[in-house]
Amino acid sequence: MSLDTPTLYIVATMVAAMLGAMLLLFGKQENIRALKWWGSAYLLGAASVGIWTVTSGTLDEVLSLALNAVGFIACGMVWNASRVFHGRKPNLPGLVLGAIAWIAAAMTLAPPASMMRVTIGAGIVAFYAALTATELWTERRRPLQRRWPLIVVPVMHGFVLMLPILLGSLLDPHDGKFATSVWVTGFSVELVLYAIGTVFVIFILVSERAVIAHKNAASTDPLTGMFNRRGFAEASSRLIDREAHAGRPVTALIFDIDHFKSINDRFGHAAGDEVLKLFAVVVINTLRLSDLSGRVGGEEFAALLPCSLEDGVIAAERVRTAFANSGIEVETGPVDTTVSIGVAGGPAGTELEVLLAAADTALYQAKRTGRNRVEAAEELPLSLENQRRKKLGAQRQEPTGVVKLA
Ligand code: GH3
Ligand code: MG
Ligand code: MG
Repeated sequence: MSLDTPTLYIVATMVAAMLGAMLLLFGKQENIRALKWWGSAYLLGAASVGIWTVTSGTLDEVLSLALNAVGFIACGMVWNASRVFHGRKPNLPGLVLGAIAWIAAAMTLAPPASMMRVTIGAGIVAFYAALTATELWTERRRPLQRRWPLIVVPVMHGFVLMLPILLGSLLDPHDGKFATSVWVTGFSVELVLYAIGTVFVIFILVSERAVIAHKNAASTDPLTGMFNRRGFAEASSRLIDREAHAGRPVTALIFDIDHFKSINDRFGHAAGDEVLKLFAVVVINTLRLSDLSGRVGGEEFAALLPCSLEDGVIAAERVRTAFANSGIEVETGPVDTTVSIGVAGGPAGTELEVLLAAADTALYQAKRTGRNRVEAAEELPLSLENQRRKKLGAQRQEPTGVVKLA
């Protein structure tokens, strides 16, 4: 079977142009900057290869060099798209470096050394493919099984491009049949596959990103940026499991801002919101990085610390003092704010609900005894199972005479 190389190039060009337009459109619609980079790179690459194929041999030296340089810029844009996708800045010197290297090489190499030029050109594209693969590889927070196409696609592309270098002497630069050689045919087939493969990779990335964004939104409190109740519970159960494994205790803290309703009433709801944000900052800055915290209600926050009850009380006292001394001011003057904190600790593996229930009782005690204080739960909380058993036992012993409604 013989494949017609120019036809393959034209197909590759059309596929790349169509995918580029799709990426650009989708990037604009969803406002994803990286997709706009990718789409533009594809369109630019397609234009360069397309014009080169259609005008084969008829362009003068300068124009054809410029056309190739545009192609290398397109490769640089694909690499930059993966940088932008990971929140990094585009690398502009790197973007044009390939094109500059190409022009410099072409100016120093005499036209008869055309095979050398092909090799250098392929080397530049392979280099960008390797950079793209590295960029995607370093961002591997996700399980590797799902990420393998991210590496395989650019590496495959780089490998095909490197073939003439690897095979070097096997390919005769002066062989007139070079244009129809196995490598050129293989390369053009690979070009089509690469264009499609990359878009597949891009959509894996975009869908992963969307899933993560939704997951984060579902577990984050928009006002403070902290975990919400759900996020806090999920992260807590992981922390509890980890500490239980090591046989270490955990301690829960519940914070409730004092007379918060009166802050809203006196200074307005917006000022109240500012106080909530400031309290979140105080909690995050005062606790350790290994501690978890979240906003679990209107003006209620919670934290889970991998430490003993005694250490938890010390941490709670630090938060209380920091907030009391925070000196918040609104337009109308200073806002005197304090917080009451309930603390409860339990042995390794104590469930979050149990800890929070005990911390809540301690918090109630802190409110009753004057606010702006830290109270620790007197008793170690029972495990959920024990709590259930105790409840059942109490129900059985309840005096009869209670009239049950059918
Ligand atoms: P205590 O010292 O007993 O805790 O008194 P308190 O006024 O803080 O307690 P209470 O639970 O009666 O009031 C809580 C207030 O928090 C009532 C509600 O309007 C306010 N609140 C709840 N969520 C928000 C919010 O997102 N922003 C603002 N500004 N206020 C909120
Ligand atoms: Mg409250
Ligand atoms: Mg309150």
